[in-house]
Amino acid sequence: MKNYMEVKFKSLSINEGFARVCVASFCLQLNPTVDQLSDIKTAVSEAVTNCVVHAYPKNKPGEITLSCEIDGGDITIKISDEGVGIKDIEQARQPFFTTRANDERSGMGFTVMEGFMDKVEVCKNQGKGTTVTLTKRIEQEKQVVGG
Ligand code: ATP
Ligand code: MG
Repeated sequence: MKNYMEVKFKSLSINEGFARVCVASFCLQLNPTVDQLSDIKTAVSEAVTNCVVHAYPKNKPGEITLSCEIDGGDITIKISDEGVGIKDIEQARQPFFTTRANDERSGMGFTVMEGFMDKVEVCKNQGKGTTVTLTKRIEQEKQVVGG
């Protein structure tokens, strides 16, 4: 089965919870375990928080686009913004690297995403900003024909 959804919302921290719940409820159709669902929610939170904190100036919030695609047992979640972008993606993905140390950031967001998902891709958008693609496989029980 293939399915797809996309939502757009303002880059406000109040929307981090909305994004988590939104993806989680869409993924329920794959019957994930509580742990799998919690992993997905944590990773989505980190990616959306990054858009809120880093992509746009605090006094000038922008737009975040969140999409989720299901193909069989594979979930692909894209979180994208049109903000400042990341200068050096490889460096940004290193554990403990942060450009906001004095803002009590620990630089562990990408590391957490990698820990909870099967694959994390980070790329610059064509125009402006960043897209983070998170993928995870939820094993589906095989249907026993005539069983
Ligand atoms: P933490 O997530 O632990 O609170 P952090 O957000 O600084 O701290 P990461 O999430 O690993 O750590 O991100 C590393 C760095 O990558 C950030 O400090 C920031 O410079 C940059 N970054 C991440 N996401 C974006 C984004 N959407 N737009 C611009 N820069 C980003
Ligand atoms: Mg972060």
